Amino acid sequence: MNTMSKKITVNAAAIGEASPLAGKELEEERAGASSMEAARAEAGGRQPQGYAPGNASKEAARAEAGGRQPQGYAPGNASIGLELRLFSAGYCLHPECLTLRGGTLRAVPFPAGFALISHPQHGLILYDTGYSSRFLEETNRFPARLYRMVTPVTFSERDSAIEQLNRMGISAKDIGYVVLSHFHADHTAGLRDFPYARLLYKREAYEAVKHLGPLASVKAAHLPGLLPDDLEGRSLYIEESASCKLPASFPFAEGYDLFGDGSLIAVDIPGHAAGQIGLFLGTSSGAYFLCADAVWSSRAYRERRLPHPAARMIMPDYGKYKDTFERLCRLHRQFPHIRIVPSHCSEALVRQSEEDEA
Ligand SMILES: [Zn+2]
Repeated sequence: MNTMSKKITVNAAAIGEASPLAGKELEEERAGASSMEAARAEAGGRQPQGYAPGNASKEAARAEAGGRQPQGYAPGNASIGLELRLFSAGYCLHPECLTLRGGTLRAVPFPAGFALISHPQHGLILYDTGYSSRFLEETNRFPARLYRMVTPVTFSERDSAIEQLNRMGISAKDIGYVVLSHFHADHTAGLRDFPYARLLYKREAYEAVKHLGPLASVKAAHLPGLLPDDLEGRSLYIEESASCKLPASFPFAEGYDLFGDGSLIAVDIPGHAAGQIGLFLGTSSGAYFLCADAVWSSRAYRERRLPHPAARMIMPDYGKYKDTFERLCRLHRQFPHIRIVPSHCSEALVRQSEEDEA
């Protein structure tokens, strides 16, 4: 076990005893109002009504006033004390050329990445959940079977998010929040393993898939059976969190300050799926941008290579996809110190685990 996981385990133990998210209070929250404001107030980060976003926007204002970027600017207040760890829960195989124009026909593995964030006040937070055995069960029958035929999945139970966390001494009760980047099944499949977590996502993302029939769901890579029965009761819609302006020269104009403390700044990265969101955060190791499926590999933004035109078939809005893609390329060019982490990029996940081990 490396230093990072030790730190997280220690935090989880402390959170288990002291967290306002534990037990009864969460039950009450589920039964009652489930707004972001309520969650913030309950978690101790009380915001007066109409509170203007905090640290992130102050940084932005300073940057704008100065007419240039402060050295190493990145959204997300790195002094909060966040810890980040990246994992994958299973992987699928895909011809490289579909995800990267000019790539080979060879089938390459795409890990189903997820992230564990430790916040000193808000506890343990997941960004997506990867595959689970329920994904295999849900795709045993047609039409969902088509999904698995197109993207063959390799997964064993010990790869699930919950089992990996359990091995680090973290239980489902310790996970207070799951931020969902979008509703594709390789991001939602582990959700049912976290019944105590509040779920943060864009209402728009769920509305886009909520009423789809079986075939349309498969086409949208959505498996409704993976969603918890009480999903909506535990949901906090990202649209309702405080918006914050980012510097004029930054590739993303504004973000959502998820906890109102400038620690986690979500931004819109639509195109691959409706309402997809990415997450900026800073840790003692540096600045990160978790960009979900805005690209499938780090090579895509580094070499500015879009996916094969055939991949447009699975995208609800290719115009928005290209716009998001260009913003990501700009981010890499102008802010190279921000580590961009695509959910399915082996290189990004391996690089991070090597840094963790160092
Ligand atoms: Zn996706």
